[in-house]
Amino acid sequence: ALAERLESAWKTLRGQDKISQSNIQDALREVRRALLEGDVNLQVVKNFIADVEAKAQGAEVISGVRPDQQFIKIVYDELVQVMGETNVPIASADKPPTIVLMAGLQGTGKTTATAKLALYLRKQNRSTLLVATDIYRPAAIDQLVTLGKQIDVPVFELGTDANPVEIARQGVAQAKADGVDTVIIDTAGRLQIDQDMMAELAKIKQTVQPHETLLVVDAMTGQEAANLTRTFHEQIGITGAILTKLDGDSRGGAALSVRQISGQPIKFVGVGEKVEALQPFYPDRMASRILGMGDVIGFVEKAQEEIDLADAEKMQEKMLSAKFDFSDFLKQMRLLKNMGSLGGLLKMIPGMNKISDEQLKQGETQLKRTEAMINSMTKQERTNPDLLAKSPSRRRRIARGAGYLESDVSKLVTDFTKMRTAMQQMSMGGFPGMPGMMGG
Ligand code: GDP
Ligand code: MG
Repeated sequence: ALAERLESAWKTLRGQDKISQSNIQDALREVRRALLEGDVNLQVVKNFIADVEAKAQGAEVISGVRPDQQFIKIVYDELVQVMGETNVPIASADKPPTIVLMAGLQGTGKTTATAKLALYLRKQNRSTLLVATDIYRPAAIDQLVTLGKQIDVPVFELGTDANPVEIARQGVAQAKADGVDTVIIDTAGRLQIDQDMMAELAKIKQTVQPHETLLVVDAMTGQEAANLTRTFHEQIGITGAILTKLDGDSRGGAALSVRQISGQPIKFVGVGEKVEALQPFYPDRMASRILGMGDVIGFVEKAQEEIDLADAEKMQEKMLSAKFDFSDFLKQMRLLKNMGSLGGLLKMIPGMNKISDEQLKQGETQLKRTEAMINSMTKQERTNPDLLAKSPSRRRRIARGAGYLESDVSKLVTDFTKMRTAMQQMSMGGFPGMPGMMGG
């Protein structure tokens, strides 16, 4: 599976202290293979890999984050970027009704998505009218009518003898007359792309001039999603897509193809047969799904949030100098805390899972004590630990404020000074050790 594949590729990177052209080749090969297996189109994969490679080589190593994790983050970010960064909501016309045209092959979930979208819009207080233009299968109209009843939304239909273009035109007119916010036009599909279907769809589009033309794509479609998107986009012009059947075991590689080939956003995902099973599409969630490595990404994300690169570099410089003070130390500790429990954090670091729960608890208690004591220091004392080394009365005041003994404060000051000296001597590698501060 993808996750295991990538896991072994990341291992090549683990333990290296730099991301370089040579050490990412294995990982890149795995990403490439994984995406292909995930049914991402070959050309899309090629472009993607080239971008990732370029970005990875220029990347600076973030202090405290392993290169393999950082590489995952680069892959992840690139995935998110290709898929469009943020969710793009459905159009809302200045002058209602907003007209939405559904397009796609038969069986992809167009009719279901039409009803799902109506229900979704109602939650935003947007009223809808559904229009049934699939006259080729009598059951198709019934299906939409049934769904409409189920969600209490009106359906416009003229039976199976009317012309689909005419049904669409009249449906929109009806929506206008009724003062409906959005009209969603369900259309017929074929099992294969064929010219009659395309011509009819183009004609409907030309007639009603929709604000949205949404291509409905079955996530299980695989490699074909790319060709399908290209054909529909070239011949009809789409403004977005709905990726259906994501409740299945497809990894969602089609999302990447659809977006890259059309340049249009995926707006929703279908996650089940029920009418409620529609969700806005979020590129970051899909990237996690495609990579299948939520935990690692979670870690890197959190690290990234807390340390922006410049800050990390400044901190590192400071740590190596004599200027590192209690305020910096507090900042570091808060960083650790924000990243979750110490235990959770350490468990994500390989080799660290051998630490006992007892030791972890001690470490966390120790961090809390340390924080309480630093909080009781004045600004001056934080920047100048020597003040504390010299003044018992200051140490006593801090001890009282924090609820500990003067000897505790003394120990903190001694440990801190020792740590600072040690850090200056240490050539910096990963996350700084904090001797004596973690109860070790
Ligand atoms: P259409 O031919 O494009 O209109 O497709 P339909 O809306 O009739 O759906 C075809 C089949 O796919 C139906 O059995 C739906 O219940 C099913 N379906 C549609 N969307 C989803 C989805 O998101 N998940 C799952 N599991 N099934 C879906
Ligand atoms: Mg249908």
